[in-house]
Amino acid sequence: MATFTSNMCGIVGYVGRSQAAPILLDGLRRLEYRGYDSAGVAIVDGDHVEMRKCAGRIASLAKLISQKPAAGSYGISHTRWATHGKVNDENAHPHFDATGKIALVHNGVIENYQALKEQLIQNGDTNFRSDTDTEVLAHLIGSIYGQLEGKDSKARLVNATRAALKQVIGTYGIAVVHSDIPNFMVGARRGSPLVLGVGKDENFLASDVSAIVAHTRDAVYLNDFDLVALERDKFEISSIDGAVGQHAVSKVEFSAEDIKKGDYPHYMLKEICEQADTVRDAMRGRLTYEECTAKLGGLNMTPPELRDVARVVLTGCGTALHAGRVGEYLIERLANIPVEVEFASEYRHRNTPMTERTLVFAISQSGETADTLGALRESRRKGYRTLGICNNVASTIARESDGGVYMHAGPEIGVAATKSFTSQLVILTLIGLLLGRMRQLSTAEGKRMIDALEALPGQIEEVLKLSDQIKSIAKKYVDVSGMLFFGRQFNYPIALEGALKMKEITYLFAEGHPSAELKHGIIALVRPDLPSIFIAPDDAVLSKNLNNIEQVKARKGPIIAVTSGNGAKQLKDLAADIIEVPDVIDCLSPVLTVIPLQLLAYHLAVELGRDVDKPRNLAKSVTVE
Ligand code: GLU
Repeated sequence: MATFTSNMCGIVGYVGRSQAAPILLDGLRRLEYRGYDSAGVAIVDGDHVEMRKCAGRIASLAKLISQKPAAGSYGISHTRWATHGKVNDENAHPHFDATGKIALVHNGVIENYQALKEQLIQNGDTNFRSDTDTEVLAHLIGSIYGQLEGKDSKARLVNATRAALKQVIGTYGIAVVHSDIPNFMVGARRGSPLVLGVGKDENFLASDVSAIVAHTRDAVYLNDFDLVALERDKFEISSIDGAVGQHAVSKVEFSAEDIKKGDYPHYMLKEICEQADTVRDAMRGRLTYEECTAKLGGLNMTPPELRDVARVVLTGCGTALHAGRVGEYLIERLANIPVEVEFASEYRHRNTPMTERTLVFAISQSGETADTLGALRESRRKGYRTLGICNNVASTIARESDGGVYMHAGPEIGVAATKSFTSQLVILTLIGLLLGRMRQLSTAEGKRMIDALEALPGQIEEVLKLSDQIKSIAKKYVDVSGMLFFGRQFNYPIALEGALKMKEITYLFAEGHPSAELKHGIIALVRPDLPSIFIAPDDAVLSKNLNNIEQVKARKGPIIAVTSGNGAKQLKDLAADIIEVPDVIDCLSPVLTVIPLQLLAYHLAVELGRDVDKPRNLAKSVTVE
């Protein structure tokens, strides 16, 4: 895939002539949406490191800094999403080495930190202040630095970092400074994204370009095993093994403006409301009327290769997996190819019997999801052609796959994914259409699909107008103990996705099931304070859905229905609330039916006073396994 921007929470570093503290804080704020539990900065002030860090919000860190300012024009900063050690001030990053001269921030996991720690303790290092894996790496670098000879302290820090990283098993994006080495910083990555921002007389390091795009649009996306040494006016990238590599400076596609909330109270609402545009962008230039098919050059596959595909595997996590579940129905319908959907985390560890001519898709908005990346690597290791469906250009999945399709949805800031889901649905439809038109799908059916796709943005505008109605429904159900979601066929995965949105941002108990499963167990849960949401558009299974709705109604379960066409008439006496979306060809209905569920979760979360854009315990881009 072509090179794009990368994405994850965590690291901002600055070497320049301005005061580092405001730049670092601003960068951290721009990463805030990704979810974190602690924050910290280390700024070199003359001959020593000023460290401020705490559990909690960046606002608390800013307060600490305003109470006790940290002056200096180079430093590193971090938002932590704890994996090793409790969420507390001591475990927040940065971490010092034993001498207190080296400070380090880290995203990822040092899997062998116990063994490394024991080795350091045996060598007399007892000065550990935290329970983190990260601190061990800081100490290891410090200990090697202490042992290395030579006057060139910059080379010593680079070599010490290199030697330490060679001993590490695990994943990392790191930034390191030393108080004896002015205006100098070392960064490295393996498994966690890191990007270098190239400015004028100043350079930046960040785990995500959105942290630095306000300062520069020139970026170098580092690859795994890259190490960068940066100063104010130069940088040098080499591999952890020492080989000097070539790296292109690319222009960042979006501006700081693109990631602003505008008039919206939350990023999530802004992103829900962008879906007419993002769906349009997902298909822009990818449909051909003459041939009634889709054009997806990024797949890097010839027509004979595409025609030869005998089986498709769709893999991802969370919302992306739900998109895959719709994709399964879609591709089987359009292309008549067997499709399997796999949790990335399960897929990569089991002995999946993989048939020949299997095409694997790794679906991930960020392109950095650790489980999905693991599945992609395992799949490629086994020799399967593996393609990515990602939003972030130049993300690791985008770069490591054999090809793929970009969503072009723009930055998604809300932790609960919304617009990336509908973009994924459109892309999976395009893939189904392309594969289908190479097989049995007629020009007439191809054209029908294209017409339906093109009508979607306008229909999404219609659905978005229902926001006020959905808000009043949310107000009505503010005291419920949870919600059940049901759907059939193309809308069964939408029941799963509706329940996931509800859980993520309202913290209410929510479950999604195929409607017909009710009678096999879930119906035991039905009671007056647990509403059931049925996604029941006017399609071939509407009458079946109506049967299931009757079953819930008979047991005094309140019913909210999302429907279309003649559905409203038939639901009139059954559902307490009816949300009507425009009629569309059945396989595309999920693009419309999911939006009311996103809005319902959103409005209910607001009513409940939840932190919609930063729900507890969640991270935007899950780069740990
Ligand atoms: N494993 C490290 C810790 O728990 C880093 C976590 C992160 O990526 O923020 O502190």
